[in-house]
Amino acid sequence: MSTTATEHKLPTFAPMPLEDIAKVREELQRGFASGKTRSVAWRRAQILALVYLIKDNIDRFNAALALDLGRSPLETHIAEVGPTLDELRVLYDGVAKWAKTESAPFSTAWFPMKPQIRKEPKGVVLVITPFNYVITLSMCPIAGALAAGCTVAFKPSEQTPHASALFAELMPKYVDTDVVRVVNGAIPETTKLLEYQWDHIMYTGSGRVARIVLTAAAKTLSPVTTELGGKSPAIFGPRCNLKTSVRRVLWAKFANSGQTCIAPDYAIVPKSLELDFIDEIRRVLPEFYPDGAERSSSFSRIVSFRGTARLHALLQNTKGETVCGGRVDVEARFVEPTVVRGVGGDDSLMSEYAVILELFGPILPIVTVDDVDEAIAFVKARDHPLALYVFSEDKEFQQKIIESTQSGGVLVNDTMVHFAAYGVPFGGIGPSGSGQYKGKYSFDMFTHLRTVLVSASWLDIILSGRYPPFSAAKARKMDMLTLPSFPSRPKVPPVPSEVPQSSTSRWGAGVVVALVVSMTALLTRSSHRRS
Ligand code: NAD
Repeated sequence: MSTTATEHKLPTFAPMPLEDIAKVREELQRGFASGKTRSVAWRRAQILALVYLIKDNIDRFNAALALDLGRSPLETHIAEVGPTLDELRVLYDGVAKWAKTESAPFSTAWFPMKPQIRKEPKGVVLVITPFNYVITLSMCPIAGALAAGCTVAFKPSEQTPHASALFAELMPKYVDTDVVRVVNGAIPETTKLLEYQWDHIMYTGSGRVARIVLTAAAKTLSPVTTELGGKSPAIFGPRCNLKTSVRRVLWAKFANSGQTCIAPDYAIVPKSLELDFIDEIRRVLPEFYPDGAERSSSFSRIVSFRGTARLHALLQNTKGETVCGGRVDVEARFVEPTVVRGVGGDDSLMSEYAVILELFGPILPIVTVDDVDEAIAFVKARDHPLALYVFSEDKEFQQKIIESTQSGGVLVNDTMVHFAAYGVPFGGIGPSGSGQYKGKYSFDMFTHLRTVLVSASWLDIILSGRYPPFSAAKARKMDMLTLPSFPSRPKVPPVPSEVPQSSTSRWGAGVVVALVVSMTALLTRSSHRRS
């Protein structure tokens, strides 16, 4: 163990024995079956426990992340601790309201059966996380699952052994072991976990491993949310505030040494702007790292030697021109903040072994284009990215990019902050992920919407047409009650704005008519009997 690990009494990473994994799942199932997770007060207490798990142990997490990622405690504070505590507060405040049973919207047809939507926890869930933001990417989904009333098996990344070992030590001190369990390990342990049926799996990581997770989950019919990555472009256009835009792109690109799922992967810059863009980068970089990134305590390291060597190879194979940085020290897991111009779609930095992969390192390729259409075509020729950044004060340019592309999210004139925004979902589309979370969206992901209706015997006065023996008269009666009416067939296909917004339900009107007719018949019959 290194000096810092000893100083901060950091535990040693220990993979869970494979034979213990079934027992973990059973204990979590028992925890769920105990019924304690149904109480909203209990759920809030668990979220609060996670808050104090983080707050009480910040120094130890900082020490762990300094060892795992060479990360500055202040960057961890800005990028992880703040947004995570903010998210836990949102879940803590929101859960009581979200967990309430809802009545279905009023409908004349269905109100007699009092349709309701119960918000029930899905059950025992599995949360698998990557290495890059260990606090945020584990605590936010776990807190979301606890808010929904689920119990959780949590598999952190083996690439951050100090932080993952710390989770294993701390979790049982703050949360019951039949509610959250940390399963440390690598491929064998995750493979074992994936042999079991889970009531939901939330997987955050690479698309490569997502394919393995989804294939395994298909065999057990476990529902899965995938939060993946992708090549998120930063597109520059007319009237952009170059000074602010470049600072924001470089901040996002070099934070955590580029190991951020929503880091801008590459910049698309009009040819006419390229030289000014590069000049501005050359001005900002020494501001960020006055003594160079290598000596700066504000610049992280790559998580592994393998990851560093990969980035080195990509740089060695680029056909572009390195205009800033370019130094790599594999032994020190260091890649200098690097900017490469003259990068085309087939460059090593844009497609690795013919596969389009995110860089996940502090390298910014610049792709130049003639106009907005070429920029859009370049983005559309690739998978839908997780984030898309537009830099321009020109509203038409902004709208054209937004309307002509697809991505997990869009941010205009800034980078990355949308992850922390209040009240909005976070997630990808297609190869950048499926499903979304944060706040109420996390609660929804781990919640089963259970529909409950209560039918009364007297409703057969109007619904008896459904019983055999079937007859044309019964079918007509059921049609009158159930078939909706539509506007008449249009003579020419409607333009989108003319599409009717709603249709009236004959079933609704039919039920009211049938109720009135039936009640009148009943009353008439009983008054005949009396007379
Ligand atoms: P990864 O896919 O290598 O690992 C993620 C998890 O999968 C780890 O817990 C790991 O132990 C497990 N795993 C690895 N190989 C496995 C296998 N063969 N079978 C079963 N499980 C396996 O990802 P990473 O390198 O830790 O993280 C980087 C990736 O995560 C990037 O692609 C990044 O874009 C993505 N990411 C996405 C988000 C998001 O919110 N969308 C956030 C952070 C990171």
